[in-house]
Amino acid sequence: ALKILKGCINCDMCEPECPNKAIYMGDKIYEINPDLCTECIGFYDNPTCISVCPLDVIITDPERVEDHDTLYEKFTELVKAD
Ligand code: SF4
Ligand code: SF4
Repeated sequence: ALKILKGCINCDMCEPECPNKAIYMGDKIYEINPDLCTECIGFYDNPTCISVCPLDVIITDPERVEDHDTLYEKFTELVKAD
């Protein structure tokens, strides 16, 4: 899963672009629900939130480093639950 760093300026670009609705407004900045973030696997070749973010504030969550298979499994579970 990805994580948004404190430098986020709340520009609102990423939130509507997330195919998993994993991005939400937190206390001060936008945040990512790691249970919903597939790093865009199943939808796009690259994380679309990073593509649209004007800054360099979205990184791999060091507490949720996941390999491709794990992320793909999360994607299939989310699709099933939808
Ligand atoms: Fe959403 Fe994709 Fe960004 Fe994860 S990487 S928060 S799924 S847009
Ligand atoms: Fe924050 Fe980047 Fe999302 Fe804008 S696109 S709200 S700066 S994380």
